[in-house]
Amino acid sequence: MTTPNYAVIPGPMRKLSDMPDLPLVEFVVALDGGWGTWCWTEHEDPVFWNHSVAPLFPPDTPWKLIQKKMARLVERGIIEGCTCPCRGDYEVTDRSRAFVAAEAVKPGAVRCPPEMIERAQIKAAERERRLGHLGLGSINTTLQ
Ligand SMILES: [Zn+2]
Repeated sequence: MTTPNYAVIPGPMRKLSDMPDLPLVEFVVALDGGWGTWCWTEHEDPVFWNHSVAPLFPPDTPWKLIQKKMARLVERGIIEGCTCPCRGDYEVTDRSRAFVAAEAVKPGAVRCPPEMIERAQIKAAERERRLGHLGLGSINTTLQ
């Protein structure tokens, strides 16, 4: 399957500022402690990449641009994660939640599409079930 198109900007992304921050941070917040990634490959399991921000970007956005955009959010302390070109491991922090609360009420704010919030929530629920199954409860872990 190809990347579902939940792109939040209509045209191609040419520079980092073309892509709004809010939908990306909203997506990471919706993962609720699970880690997110910029990675995307074609995969037979349609929910395999539920934790990827890639579908928020216009189709055919170079991965380096996606990875850089996310790295800036990490550098600015808006989300937790890694800025090297690894999978990213983006995680929510209190600052992420505060950022969304402040930005979402601004006029003209570009929001994360409901379908993407749903994808993140499915991933978060999956993780919750697995942690419960292992008896780990609320222990903070990067287990996906
Ligand atoms: Zn890294």
